[in-house]
Amino acid sequence: MRKLIAGNWKMNGLASSLAEIEVLKGLTGKVTCDIVVCPPFTLVEKAAECAAGSAITVGAQDCHAQTMGAYTGDVSAEMLAEIGARFVILGHSERRAAYGEMDGVVAGKAAAVHKARLASIICVGETLTERNEGRAAEVVCAQLEGSIPDTATSSNTMIAYEPVWAIGTGQVPSLAQIEEIHSSIRQMLKERLGDDGGRVRILYGGSVKAQNAKAIFSVSNVDGALVGGASLKASEFAGIILAAD
Ligand code: PEP
Repeated sequence: MRKLIAGNWKMNGLASSLAEIEVLKGLTGKVTCDIVVCPPFTLVEKAAECAAGSAITVGAQDCHAQTMGAYTGDVSAEMLAEIGARFVILGHSERRAAYGEMDGVVAGKAAAVHKARLASIICVGETLTERNEGRAAEVVCAQLEGSIPDTATSSNTMIAYEPVWAIGTGQVPSLAQIEEIHSSIRQMLKERLGDDGGRVRILYGGSVKAQNAKAIFSVSNVDGALVGGASLKASEFAGIILAAD
């Protein structure tokens, strides 16, 4: 399966940060994996223009489930499609924690993303307490069950397994722990989507760096990465992309 490496810039980046995309464009023709950069809303259009014709595709970090209406401050999937986004990250643990986004809300947003002919990167992951209670796989599969809409296929849906305790902390689960959860996710996807579930890309996210990426990519059912901090500098992000190839 072709790997997909997505960078989540979170609430970072002004127009000057587009220089990082300029650098990444240098990878065009040199790598076979899919590369996605998800800047804040304000940069999506400019990033898409900057990346046009290159190996880089642009995504956003959230959207509303409705197409339009009285939702002050929100942005619809259709609006994102119009300005050149091709992917939308949904259900990131920071949004689940800060805005109380429940699985059903994530599923509604994912359905809107699919309707706008974009692809969703649906994030799931356990907290440290849940892991210590031995419930990591159970929690992740329950989140997935509730967060994947009926419109999901292997072409419009990617899953990102992101243990909450590994995000931005420098802590990474062991390769065996990653393998166990990715294999549970794969099984659940096959139960839900049949053979197509075997083709959905499952990304790992949580403190991925150029230096640990190769080992993580060697784990079965790891089909790429969702990268936060290390995606902000093109030199570091490129190291991760090259490790995937
Ligand atoms: C993320 O926020 O999706 C993430 C994986 O962050 P980091 O790589 O910084 O841990």
